Amino acid sequence: MERYSRQMLFKPIGKVGQQKISEKHVLILGCGALGSANADNLARAGVGKLTLIDRDYVEISNLQRQQLYTEQDVYNQIPKAIAAKKRLQEINSEIDIEAHVMDASVTSLEPLLTGIDLVMDATDNFDTRFLLNDMLQKYSIPWIFGSCVGSTGMSYTILPNQTPCLRCLLDAIPVSGATCDSVGIISPAVQMVVAHQTTEALKILIENQKSLRTSLVTFDLWNNHYHMMKVDRAKKQTCPACGETPNYPALDYQSTTKSEVLCGRNTVQIRTSQKQNLNLLKERLERIAPVKVNDFLISIEYESYRLVFFQDGRTLIHGTNSIEKAKSIYYQLAG
Ligand SMILES: [Zn+2]
Repeated sequence: MERYSRQMLFKPIGKVGQQKISEKHVLILGCGALGSANADNLARAGVGKLTLIDRDYVEISNLQRQQLYTEQDVYNQIPKAIAAKKRLQEINSEIDIEAHVMDASVTSLEPLLTGIDLVMDATDNFDTRFLLNDMLQKYSIPWIFGSCVGSTGMSYTILPNQTPCLRCLLDAIPVSGATCDSVGIISPAVQMVVAHQTTEALKILIENQKSLRTSLVTFDLWNNHYHMMKVDRAKKQTCPACGETPNYPALDYQSTTKSEVLCGRNTVQIRTSQKQNLNLLKERLERIAPVKVNDFLISIEYESYRLVFFQDGRTLIHGTNSIEKAKSIYYQLAG
């Protein structure tokens, strides 16, 4: 086990901890900046199995902070989950990695939770985090919340039946509409959140609960703030996810055919419940304009728009914030 010698020399982990790490299965939801860096750390640390989930593909503006990707991935429009898996297997071929190109929904996520020891939140929106929150409370799986924008970030470790959940914390968390697509982000803010997330992950994986941080950490690297907030008392008995009679609101509605504007990205996502036959679609689209194809998606430049069709039935329409406009272009092209 030469590979992990330095980690095993670290007393709190040791040989016993390393063995535990190698037996664990971590799910990472989102393979953007937080997901890349967490996955990189956990793969190098020797986590036995990683499940990666992401709905997007690699774009040039990702390279500034999403450390697993290359210009070649951008050129080939490789889905992030696939590109991440490939890179991580080059880093550590001894671990097992599963990649899913998909949207996180109740129906898509539930079957993937079997055998999961820990979930890393690397999403970029609160809708998905609430879905995660409610689902993981229901299945009693610990998870580590993380978010960052600009030069700020925060993280908190959520243990079902013990700590407050994300819904309980909402009063303490400054949720603004800011996203990294609207106000930007610097890479060290990502790394700082990930340092907190991965460290907590290692503690959970070696079952060293008493070392967990227990406070909500928030920081602003540019303005030199660093704050630990005690939130033990935020846990609410009436919480719909972790209270005495939970009803898990985010698990209620199953939106399999929902269209949505991707916040701050001038992009609309259209979802159909059926998988797309990329070969048939390719023949059709090629008559309209040149297309770019790989095993996972087809993209086409049309007027001032770029449409990207994924196998799982989703389509991204870049170049508009209007669902109506996006739908009309989608139906013109895909019928
Ligand atoms: Zn709660």
